Amino acid sequence: MPKKQTKTQARQSKLSLPKGVALLHNPMLNKGTAFTEKERDGLGLRGLLPPHVHTQKEQMQRVMNTFAKKPNDLERYVQLISLQDRNETLFYRVIMDHIETMMPIIYTPTVGKACQEYGHLFRRPRGIYISAKDKGKVAKVLKNWAYKDIRVIVVTDGERILGLGDLGTFGMGIPVGKLSLYTACAGIHPSWCLPITLDVGTENETLLKDPLYTGLRQKRLRGAPFDALVDEFITATQKLFPKALVQFEDFANINAFRLLHKYEKKVCCFNDDIQGTAAVILAGVYSALRITQGSLKNQIILFQGAGEAGIGIGDLIVSAMQAEGVPADEARQHCWFVDSKGLVVKSRKDLAEHKLPYAHDHASCPDLQRAIDSLKPTVLIGVSGMPKAFTQPIVESMSKLNQRPVIFALSNPTSKAECSAEEAYTWSQGRAVFASGSPFNPVTYHGKTFVPGQGNNAYIFPGVGLGVIACEAKHVTAPMFFTAAKTLANHVLESDLAQGRIFPALTRIQEVSAVIAAAVAEVAYEEKLARKKRPKDLLAFIKSLMFVPHYTSYV
Ligand code: NAD
Repeated sequence: MPKKQTKTQARQSKLSLPKGVALLHNPMLNKGTAFTEKERDGLGLRGLLPPHVHTQKEQMQRVMNTFAKKPNDLERYVQLISLQDRNETLFYRVIMDHIETMMPIIYTPTVGKACQEYGHLFRRPRGIYISAKDKGKVAKVLKNWAYKDIRVIVVTDGERILGLGDLGTFGMGIPVGKLSLYTACAGIHPSWCLPITLDVGTENETLLKDPLYTGLRQKRLRGAPFDALVDEFITATQKLFPKALVQFEDFANINAFRLLHKYEKKVCCFNDDIQGTAAVILAGVYSALRITQGSLKNQIILFQGAGEAGIGIGDLIVSAMQAEGVPADEARQHCWFVDSKGLVVKSRKDLAEHKLPYAHDHASCPDLQRAIDSLKPTVLIGVSGMPKAFTQPIVESMSKLNQRPVIFALSNPTSKAECSAEEAYTWSQGRAVFASGSPFNPVTYHGKTFVPGQGNNAYIFPGVGLGVIACEAKHVTAPMFFTAAKTLANHVLESDLAQGRIFPALTRIQEVSAVIAAAVAEVAYEEKLARKKRPKDLLAFIKSLMFVPHYTSYV
């Protein structure tokens, strides 16, 4: 137990301290068998716990022993969530000390399976549910949350959960999981985090018929009633939690771009599927350029898929090129998109609004192969959810055009990836700079081992969130994201690049998140968007905010 309390621990101990059974049932304060003899006497715990006092390390050993015995990842997820509901400090100690093992359990891919069964696995509620029936009373509902100083809200309406579609209120696993990553990866105090699901109904007939479904039995609100509920929600958050960053998560295309554009200049908010993805993939491109020795403004980037992820990445690349002095129109000419109907070009009459800025003057091209032959891209990015779209001829064409072709197969889960790591390395004869959305194991090709990078948004959003919170930024802007991307890329070690690894090891994520946060806050100060006075040593201040999962001494 450290003698001197950190600021975070002091904040933790200021949370009102219940006694006896109530203390054991408060996950933010509970220490389980680690309560000391003195605390057991002073806090009415004597007899409520078995006599032996365990250290946190011993408790962690118990958790890891059980974890190893679980038959599958979903069971491991349930074990960890139950721990989070009993003892958050121990939960974060376990997650932070085993981040590489735990990340795929508390987040993708396991969280996807957990969401599909959320109502069936349901034990204790976590987060706030705001339903269509709460119209006119949203602020009242939000006031029921136990903590008042909220700094990050992750909100979904459950319509497009990962690649799994409409899961209605079962989507709550996503805000819960994302916020766990805010704490695990960037040390944002758990009491600052609020997961929210807007239950506006679901189109998922299976769920509507499921007696264990947890949401309203109705079709989704659309149009003005949907917008009015979201608007009431945003207004209420501004009143009750004025320092909170709002992260929109897993809204369907039809709402995601619209809501982002409606609120991004009014409140402190962003959309991780659009902007977080964009930043992590731009970081991947910057790192890849360290290998290929190229510069961003000389790249031709071809996307397979023109949805939230693809257009988001395109937009951020354009902003980053603009910052390098390239006019926006010219920058957009470097980004090309293939969607389900072929190359996105001006002559097409069927294009959704978000694709229009990238509809360039070009002859129509019905498929990816012909688009590659015609455009000669240096970077190929798969974000279409179409498994195996990067065939051997596609990878071979990229490898003929480029000494080191940059190929990112980002569609999730693994079964939807455009190609596997092994295919990318083999078909390019070990020359591809490869990254994926889901993790792939290292691949050995002709005696050399390649470590594929995983474009995990967790490299970006926790650090961006910490930076925004630290300076109390009014808005989240594109320069914050491309600065975050550049900072992340600069923190990839030469030894990583030598193995083809274009993102840092997850074990360094807290250290990397802190520097990303400092860089993001610096942008907020430059853009005059910070509401808090700049501390002399920004990085030291940011580090002082970070939650350390040590037990606080209560007596
Ligand atoms: P989305 O539904 O918004 O967009 C999908 C796009 O693919 C649409 O434009 C659609 O027209 C296009 N498409 C569908 N079939 C196609 C085909 N046969 N050929 C070409 N294009 C086709 O989804 P999204 O949010 O953009 O996500 C897309 C994929 O990217 C998902 O699999 C998701 O898991 C993945 N993703 C990865 C990361 C990451 O690696 N960090 C982040 C976000 C999304």
